[in-house]
Amino acid sequence: MISMSSTTTHLRHLNFVCPVCDGENTIDYLPEIGELLDCSDCGSELEVSSTEPLEVIESDLEAEDWGQ
Ligand SMILES: [Zn+2]
Repeated sequence: MISMSSTTTHLRHLNFVCPVCDGENTIDYLPEIGELLDCSDCGSELEVSSTEPLEVIESDLEAEDWGQ
């Protein structure tokens, strides 16, 4: 009898700090770089800039036409 207590529960909760409000957020999956996350504190849209460690930056989608 093989007792491998389901190794698929490999992922644990990950934390990231919102660069806008410094609020700590927790997610239970590993996002990909470039994925958009919402801050649960201030609702800002954040973009994953690194996964190890998990880091996010403020998404600047709205600043795209800043130069106009
Ligand atoms: Zn925030």
